Amino acid sequence: MKEVKTTCPYCGVGCGVLATTDGKRITAVRGDPEHPANFGRLCTKGSTLHLTTTPYGRVLHPEMRLSRDAPRTRVSWDVALDTLVEKFATTIATHGPDSVGFYISGQLLTEDYYVFNKLVKGLIGTNNIDTNSRLCMSSAVSGYKATLGADAPPACYDDLNHADLVVIAGSNAAWAHPILYRRLEDAKAKNPTLKVVCIDPRRTETARAADLHLPILPGTDVALFNAVLHWLLWEDATDATYISEHTEGFAALKLAVRECAPAWAARICGVNEAQIVEFASWWKSSKATLSLYCQGLNQSSSGTDKNAALINLHLATAQIGKPGAGPFSLTGQPNAMGGREVGGLANLLPGHREVVNAEHRAEVAALWGVPSLPPVPGKSAVEMFDTVRRGDVKLLWIACTNPAQSMPDLRSVADAFSQAECVIVQEAFATTETAKLADILLPASTWGEKHGTVTNSERRITHVNGVLPPPGLARHDWEIVVAFARRLERKLGRDSSQTLFPYASPEEIFNEHIETTRGRDLDITGLSYDVLDASGPQQWPFPAGATMGAARLYSDGIFPTASGKALFRVTPYKPVAEPVDARYPLALTTGRLRDQWHGMSRTGRVPQLYGHEPEPMFTMNSNDLARRGLTVGEVVKVASRRGELLVRLAASDDVRSGQCYVPMHWGRLTLAAAGSHGVNALTIGSFDPISKQPELKHTAIRVERAALPWMMVAFAYVGDIESGRDPVAVCDELREVAQTLSAHCGSMFASTTLIGAERPGVVLRIAAEAAPDAATLMQIDRVLGLIGVSTLAYDDARRNLSRRVRVEDGRLVGARLAGDLAAESWMRDYFLSGASVLELRQRLLAGSAAAPGGFVARGKVVCNCFNVPERDIVEFCASAQGSPTERLSVLQDAKKCGTNCGSCLPELRVLVGASFEVA
Ligand code: SF4
Repeated sequence: MKEVKTTCPYCGVGCGVLATTDGKRITAVRGDPEHPANFGRLCTKGSTLHLTTTPYGRVLHPEMRLSRDAPRTRVSWDVALDTLVEKFATTIATHGPDSVGFYISGQLLTEDYYVFNKLVKGLIGTNNIDTNSRLCMSSAVSGYKATLGADAPPACYDDLNHADLVVIAGSNAAWAHPILYRRLEDAKAKNPTLKVVCIDPRRTETARAADLHLPILPGTDVALFNAVLHWLLWEDATDATYISEHTEGFAALKLAVRECAPAWAARICGVNEAQIVEFASWWKSSKATLSLYCQGLNQSSSGTDKNAALINLHLATAQIGKPGAGPFSLTGQPNAMGGREVGGLANLLPGHREVVNAEHRAEVAALWGVPSLPPVPGKSAVEMFDTVRRGDVKLLWIACTNPAQSMPDLRSVADAFSQAECVIVQEAFATTETAKLADILLPASTWGEKHGTVTNSERRITHVNGVLPPPGLARHDWEIVVAFARRLERKLGRDSSQTLFPYASPEEIFNEHIETTRGRDLDITGLSYDVLDASGPQQWPFPAGATMGAARLYSDGIFPTASGKALFRVTPYKPVAEPVDARYPLALTTGRLRDQWHGMSRTGRVPQLYGHEPEPMFTMNSNDLARRGLTVGEVVKVASRRGELLVRLAASDDVRSGQCYVPMHWGRLTLAAAGSHGVNALTIGSFDPISKQPELKHTAIRVERAALPWMMVAFAYVGDIESGRDPVAVCDELREVAQTLSAHCGSMFASTTLIGAERPGVVLRIAAEAAPDAATLMQIDRVLGLIGVSTLAYDDARRNLSRRVRVEDGRLVGARLAGDLAAESWMRDYFLSGASVLELRQRLLAGSAAAPGGFVARGKVVCNCFNVPERDIVEFCASAQGSPTERLSVLQDAKKCGTNCGSCLPELRVLVGASFEVA
């Protein structure tokens, strides 16, 4: 057994991980106590990473198909690469280099990103390479560049320990960046005068815990920030000296916010004027103000202005360049920062250079040894898929990302996939929607196998080590690119001794990347793998001769602009791209769950991670629900101008009347009905004119009753590594059966999810206009093992009722309820708890809602680490004595909940009525 240092592949906090291996598998993970991002902590997602490294669901061999209708067949790497080279050479010769496009990922390592970018811009000669970071961070990039002059978050995690006021805008950090949030909790515990303001349309866990929550209407952030600046000006609370010595453009901004009084903003934002003034007055009195912000500002058709309006506040009050202060964008993906450093976007070049800058192009061309680089920016994410749809980009190469689920307006994206002459997908997981659409599928390595570097939200670069070799014929992403590039060079007649891709290791790529940063704002010429290994993860800049990186930027008040001064940006408030109206009267916003990450290709393989949010749900305000006569749990039809979604309904007053919420994770893998595209069937492709980041956070929708009276739920334990049955593959089988149903049953909802912990199970839920035939139900039973002597059966054809219950060793191991789900809740609890059902045998088939005596539903699992359900916590709190903080402490002693990763602490505090202080 040995432990290997690596990092978590999920969010941009960039936690260090120690992975234990026996040489065959990764058997455990723990937080790296020496890593400065997390000091040994991991959240629920990070602490279950080893459970995602099963041998299942991987792409193990290159595969190709000869025509769209043909199935893919296994081919050798030589055949796959030669075919690709032939296609690219022919297409480029016939239609020019802009006829090919690459769509890559913020989950790639910096070295992977670097060679992709060099291949596309340096060898092929197009800038048509963009990345899923466009959906995540590009407004943060353009906001920084428009004001501070460079794409460089100026603050660091340690600033939480020095702040007086922390403003969390458009971020549910408690769930999306949990370990950073743990650090905020620590800071608050040490300094109870630290104030936290949360700006978010929803009352999230982060909002609940804040000292002030401003539930502004979606898309109105600029109006709020402009009003705060207006009030600070009125109160003479701006820093005139800092403004005059270190900034430009304040006069124009001052003029622009003259009419933006808090009363004006209150009408636009839908919050009280007094709340806005309170926020502004806290800003005024704070000695150090730190803003943490994420997709609520970025995923917007005015994302650049939202970012800039907040940065304007920091500049106007000199809240930047000192401990505890600064505008700090939280990175959504693990290496979005590294991708930006190497220029892995359609408008960028390595070392934070710009495609449109002739000097920058010449510098990079000289470094790469190519005559020139293409001068016109390539297609950004939404534009790229539009261009494929129009037939202008003919070959589309996708790596390590799942645009068939994550892009907005998925019907258009589906059209693009069908129009492309060839879709190449370089991917580790065979189960993603995009992998299924590939004409050529290339097996890639993934977390636990890859070597290279990543950069987290605070500009900190970590050396990532592989733990095990990739399985099958999978190769590292950089190796695939280099192998293809060398073959393409030969095809294009380049002298192979002069290859642009001479690398034998990621370290050689990293060393070349370092050179591209020399003299730039992100200069890392003092770094190497050896330095990172000896001194640990380091922040940039780290120029030659430095002994440590810069914790925070702009302490000297000098900015990387032409004048050395920061630039105020005039940010007029603009409404969302698609306001609600009479036909689409509700505002839909998307967000993240605590225990899932993005498209769930990795987290979706871990049954435990479904415990907190077991199935896809769509949340409406309770009043809106009642007004429409809808009930919790029923299936509704949600429609936007682009598509529809059938999904089950939840009610919560955490969303305001007129608003709805759905987690962004639910794609076609979980919302499994035929024709379903998942959540992004609804969202809009409109994007910010500068950052080109789409407005995934706001969609105008309507919600109607779906009228699907026939319902079925089935759940069963289905296998594990030892039994050789992959639960995700079982979900695939169930999905196929469910999709055949729609031919017989009309309109239909179906979802497939995992359940359980050590023993994995699956859940299939269906609602349809009519009951299917018995043969189809039998197919479902077969897949779930609900047949044979251990299975009890009840059928009432006249009333369309049918039930199956499988009992093994006195325990419920599977059930199917069709036509009437009244008994679901308590049967599911028996299934999960493993309690004996020997006394209940007859009642198991009765289907009665009346549960066995004294039954109280477990509710969701609040603490995943110790499998503590909501019911146990509520029961405990009912009898616990003392203050809320004491009750929390006693609860933790008794149940252990919240004592490991801490991801559930915000929720535990709500349940015991405790305040923000950490237990
Ligand atoms: Fe991974 Fe959680 Fe750390 Fe993010 S906060 S990097 S998801 S362990």
